[in-house]
Amino acid sequence: MFRFVKVKNSKIYDFIFIGAGASTLQIINNVILSNSFKNFSILIIENDENKVNDRTWSFWGNTDDNFCKSFIAKEWNKICFKSKDFHLEESLHPLSYKMIRSAPFYDGVKKLIKTCPNIIIKFDSFVSYFEEKNYVNIKTVKAKYKSKFLFNSVINWNLILNQTKYPVLQQHFVGWFIKTDKEHFNSEIATFMDFDINQNKKTSFIYLLPLNKKEALVEYTLFSKERLKFAEYERGIRSYLNKNNIRNYSINEIENGNIPMTCYPFHKHNSKRVLFIGSAGGWTKASTGFTFSSIRKKSEKLVNYLKKNDDLSKFESKNRFWWYDLLFLDVLSKYNHKGSELFTKMFSKNKLEIILKFLDEETSYCEEIKIFLSFPRLLFVKQLIKRLIRSTH
Ligand SMILES: Cc1cc2nc3c(=O)[nH]c(=O)nc-3n(C[C@H](O)[C@H](O)[C@H](O)COP(=O)(O)OP(=O)(O)OC[C@H]3O[C@@H](n4cnc5c(N)ncnc54)[C@H](O)[C@@H]3O)c2cc1C
Repeated sequence: MFRFVKVKNSKIYDFIFIGAGASTLQIINNVILSNSFKNFSILIIENDENKVNDRTWSFWGNTDDNFCKSFIAKEWNKICFKSKDFHLEESLHPLSYKMIRSAPFYDGVKKLIKTCPNIIIKFDSFVSYFEEKNYVNIKTVKAKYKSKFLFNSVINWNLILNQTKYPVLQQHFVGWFIKTDKEHFNSEIATFMDFDINQNKKTSFIYLLPLNKKEALVEYTLFSKERLKFAEYERGIRSYLNKNNIRNYSINEIENGNIPMTCYPFHKHNSKRVLFIGSAGGWTKASTGFTFSSIRKKSEKLVNYLKKNDDLSKFESKNRFWWYDLLFLDVLSKYNHKGSELFTKMFSKNKLEIILKFLDEETSYCEEIKIFLSFPRLLFVKQLIKRLIRSTH
């Protein structure tokens, strides 16, 4: 049973969250909706006072699912996958691919927070923490705080980049929101991956989300170790648009990002009172970079967990999909130029419905075996043996 001592008018918070991004705000949203934490003092520390539309989140889900419904800016019933030798355009029914712009999401949850006197947001920059038996001490640039539990969404890239046991790729990209003079896009279809571009020996593709016939988000995306110079991503977008005869357009917004793709066990930094959340907690799907819907699952699980448990170190558990992602990343980091071939094999030899279920970690063993058999066996077996030898040392 979760036993909190409620300290009124004291500076000891029940929960402190570092960062007010996707994971904190999804958790807080669930905390508020659960009605079980009204007596808990909750502080959120965010260092960016002027957070704007800094990202676009897309994910698939049931068409009639109400998750984040009021924030959904666009929904597609079909998706497309392309490479040099393969083209798939398929209905997602009963699912759809959905898009949320971050600003309405941040604003919506912050508005909800304002209705809760027990939750406050302070703009300050987190520096460090150390744990004592009953509290966590948190240092920020402006102050010091104590909390019974700390939830930290600030990713420490050094942790993953300064180790060699687990491969680390990044999903890195630049996206342009463009408006064209003529009708160029089919607004019913989201292009998930278009590998029919110059691969430059790296896993590179175009991600295209049409908002209507004349407006779209076009992203030049890579799954690779090193980020590129900004101009190189822009060259990738421009070349794709030229190839598709899209020459007259205005760029209305630009977004960019790099998302960690790694099986590094972030959870080993969790403790009884400290939990790393979001990408910082390893909640990003290592083989794809998709995070938003995995944050959804984890946040719901966490809020239920917090009702009954007081040891955050036991929250996370590894499953077999962690091993699958690790093997896939082992292969993709060694043979980065083969990304197009690997994804093409997956999309051409399996039903779309099963692929999405697999990426959602909801497939059966039988379905998983079928997916594995679609990949080049020798490549995967070689990496599997290397990984097994490595894990015994
Ligand atoms: C441009 C972009 C597009 C993306 N698109 C998708 C997508 O389509 N689908 C998908 O599933 N995933 C996507 N992702 C990946 C993932 O969903 C997001 O990165 C998501 O925001 C991760 O949530 P988070 O809470 O882990 O981190 P964040 O949302 O980044 O939150 C961390 C917060 O901590 C704050 N912060 C940082 N340092 C400090 C500090 N020292 N003190 C206090 N606060 C601090 C930051 O300002 C930020 O608000 C995208 C990522 C990016 C960058």
